[in-house]
Amino acid sequence: MYELETETENVSNYVNHLYEMVKHRNPHESEFHQAVKEVFDSLIPVLVKNPIYIKQRILDRLVEPERFITFRVPWVDDEGIVQVNRGFRVQYNSALGPYKGGLRFHPSVNSSIIKFLGFEQIFKNALTGQPIGGGKGGSDFDPKERSDMEIMRFCQSFMTELSMHIGPNIDVPAGDIGVGAKEIGYLFGQYKKIRGAYESGVLTGKSILYGGSLGRKEATGYGTVYFVEEMLNQHGMSFENSTVIVSGSGNVSIYAMEKAMQLGATVIACSDSNGYIYDPNGINLETVKRLKEVERKRIEEYTCEHPEATYHQNCEEIWSIPCDIALPCATQNEINSSSAQKLIVNGVKAIGEGANMPTTLEAINTFLDHKILFAPAKAANAGGVSVSALEMAQNSARVSWSAEEVDSKLRTIMKDIYKQSLNTSIDYGVPGNLVAGANIVGFVRVAEAMLAQGVI
Ligand code: NDP
Repeated sequence: MYELETETENVSNYVNHLYEMVKHRNPHESEFHQAVKEVFDSLIPVLVKNPIYIKQRILDRLVEPERFITFRVPWVDDEGIVQVNRGFRVQYNSALGPYKGGLRFHPSVNSSIIKFLGFEQIFKNALTGQPIGGGKGGSDFDPKERSDMEIMRFCQSFMTELSMHIGPNIDVPAGDIGVGAKEIGYLFGQYKKIRGAYESGVLTGKSILYGGSLGRKEATGYGTVYFVEEMLNQHGMSFENSTVIVSGSGNVSIYAMEKAMQLGATVIACSDSNGYIYDPNGINLETVKRLKEVERKRIEEYTCEHPEATYHQNCEEIWSIPCDIALPCATQNEINSSSAQKLIVNGVKAIGEGANMPTTLEAINTFLDHKILFAPAKAANAGGVSVSALEMAQNSARVSWSAEEVDSKLRTIMKDIYKQSLNTSIDYGVPGNLVAGANIVGFVRVAEAMLAQGVI
């Protein structure tokens, strides 16, 4: 049994020991290890102040999911051939409410990716102040290469298994990479058929035609920009007249670009997994929306309509372009320390993480060391899940709020998350370190709820 001590050095030893145990019990899951390390590094001062969290083994319990489900997803493609994918759902922590977190359909999905996303979701959801626990799921299915009917058959098979584990008061999935309103529609239809009941609150990110919330589609991107605007304002800056780079061109990226432009910024570059476009006059968002949301084409096509723009094949090189604000909104680990150095040399003033864990630990430390304003994902991209919780509230009450009402609630939530993260960073002696501030706020909320509920 490990000695329970409260001094910083002993607490560090305890945390390091636990981290080694996490690696040992979850071998080959580097993304999961990375997410755990980032949180652990922030929590030492809280554990020193509150030895009860160590005595009650809160951290030891938190790193172990309440439930981790993997399942076979067999389906028939357009040629009549049976395909088999792997489905996942991690129900990580339900101290604050039903498990809540998106589904990702992407060939890179494995247990490490799902566990890192699920672990982060616990703290993010706690930060929103809403009654939602943490979960995440998905599959290694690639919707990009598939017809509509193939996507529908896959979603039906996926939900046939998943339906046994979810429900409006149990676990409420939503979208993520590769899962938008279309996929949510197919998943919802199958759930309804299996249950024989109309349980609107079982999924969020639904179309507004049948129980979705106005403002959900925009929420993550808009929320990220609201959060970054708060951070900039605090330092006498704003989006107005700034140049912005946004990676990706999916749901989060498109609405981050839209809000940044509405606030007076010029967005000069965006990307997809093949490459990036650079448009010195400012990206034409209507073209990007049509190419990506309607025609589902590659971002390279943008240059056919806008010859002044250039296309470059290596998407990581997007961070070599000088800008004031960088918003990584595509995927995990897209900014490493070399990209961070380039951004700093070129004068970047602020980074806002729209994607989950888009910045490596080394790159985060590089930004913090150089006093670059840094908005961490758990706080900055919490707008999506916040509006998902608002969608659940509307479904329960059988009402629909206007887009303005939802947007105003989103703005308030993002301001509140910023304020709490900042104040907590000050209280714990790391002023302005929002990574630590956000992790601590989320952790304390979950830890207190766990303590109140006994050994769960
Ligand atoms: P989408 O599927 O809508 O878009 C993802 C975008 O990222 C696409 O442009 C995609 O390009 C690009 N991309 C994916 N993988 C890579 C890669 N390896 N390298 C470069 N670009 C890549 O997903 P979302 O916009 O929903 O999600 C983006 C990020 O935001 C994810 O990290 C997700 O977890 C996070 N997030 C999403 C929320 C939401 O509400 N949707 C909420 C909170 C966080 P391509 O088309 O070529 O694959």
